Amino acid sequence: MNYKNVLIIGAGPVGMTAALALHHHGVKATIIEAEKEGRERAGSRAIYIHRETLKLLESISPGLGFQLAEIGIVWPVKKTFYRGDEVYKRVYEPPKPNTLPAFSSLHQHEIEKALFKACQKAGVEFIWDEPVTNLTTSDKGVEVVTSKRIWHTEYLLAADGSRSSVRQALGIEFEGPRTSDTFIVVDVKEDEANPPPIERIFHYHHPLVGGRNVMYVPFAGGWRIDLQLFAEDDKDYYASEAGVKDWLPKVMDPKYAEDITWISSYTFYQAVASNYTDEHKRVILAGEAAHLFAPFGARGLNSGVPDAIIGVNGIAKALQAETREDARKAVEVAANERLAAGRWNRECSNLALEHIQGTSEEIHLKREMSAFLAPHIPALGKWLDEGPFGPKTGHPQLSTKY
Ligand SMILES: Cc1cc2nc3c(=O)[nH]c(=O)nc-3n(C[C@H](O)[C@H](O)[C@H](O)COP(=O)(O)OP(=O)(O)OC[C@H]3O[C@@H](n4cnc5c(N)ncnc54)[C@H](O)[C@@H]3O)c2cc1C
Repeated sequence: MNYKNVLIIGAGPVGMTAALALHHHGVKATIIEAEKEGRERAGSRAIYIHRETLKLLESISPGLGFQLAEIGIVWPVKKTFYRGDEVYKRVYEPPKPNTLPAFSSLHQHEIEKALFKACQKAGVEFIWDEPVTNLTTSDKGVEVVTSKRIWHTEYLLAADGSRSSVRQALGIEFEGPRTSDTFIVVDVKEDEANPPPIERIFHYHHPLVGGRNVMYVPFAGGWRIDLQLFAEDDKDYYASEAGVKDWLPKVMDPKYAEDITWISSYTFYQAVASNYTDEHKRVILAGEAAHLFAPFGARGLNSGVPDAIIGVNGIAKALQAETREDARKAVEVAANERLAAGRWNRECSNLALEHIQGTSEEIHLKREMSAFLAPHIPALGKWLDEGPFGPKTGHPQLSTKY
């Protein structure tokens, strides 16, 4: 029967998190996904999940947070360089046994595999190969049109990604700018037999690539290298396989140029939906259906997970509400908390981008002076190290960090 209490749209990491959260509330979860079962997802996506995210996943699916910590890695050292000179280094204490580490670094493919297995174990129903094409809401519920049929549901959580059909059908706008600078993101396979030291490294003005910024992030089984292009650079060349094989060996062991798994080029949106729910409070947007941030600071998936969990908490409360008014309120409160989070995360991400790519005299001088004085004033080296990731503390009114 095409009727459900709750439907989730999108079997990405946020949709699967929502399904596990619903299961945790004792509500049967069904996910409708546009693509076929077993699809290979293209591109470089999340590699860094914070402890707060691991904790949230552990809370809805016991064992999952620890599993993601175990299959990921925690780099023991991070370093920042300015024009080739080290300006900051931090060595982390090894994670304590039986506690979740500060973060886990692993490819989104692995995160999705673990979420999928947890969903299967929980008995989540997946409807594959059935894109949502339209949707309408009323005070009575939601009618969802897919390529194959019409579904009816009381509540719907939309996790159908940045081009969300649900968001578009509801006429909800994405608000925010697209940044102008291009970043080339390259993933390479680790040389397991002879790996280099596991260190996260940020280079401001790397001297061997003409003063472009370069970041290296190790993850389980590989490395992510971000190269920030200048406005006048030929993007197509830098993002081509020949281009990468030319510049990559200048900034890391040339053997990695033979083990490239993905090359992508990005200009980033800093967009948040104008509303996370519809006028009838039947739908909640979550994850990239609701917001898009530049990846610095790792706020995409790390805020998509609380979107899904808090959204589902609101829907579970609405299902049990005695009056329609209480049900509307439950959905609205959840949606508004996450809208505030989205705006906060966009602000943090804007600050991170301004720190890295800002061209004003003020930010330029701040960076130069901090690098010059860092050997004498370690706090300035720390500022250079942390700036590319944005503020670390959460919005005071949010129940989660991201
Ligand atoms: C280079 C890069 C690095 C990143 N690094 C990090 C990081 O380190 N940490 C972090 O937290 N985040 C990071 N992110 C962001 C992270 O990848 C995203 O936030 C995350 O993938 C969003 O998940 P989602 O489930 O909302 O959307 P998606 O992963 O896009 O999933 C959406 C799903 O909906 C399906 N769908 C689409 N349309 C329809 C339809 N009409 N009907 C049914 N189904 C549909 C899609 O097929 C897909 O399965 C990074 C992103 C990039 C690009």
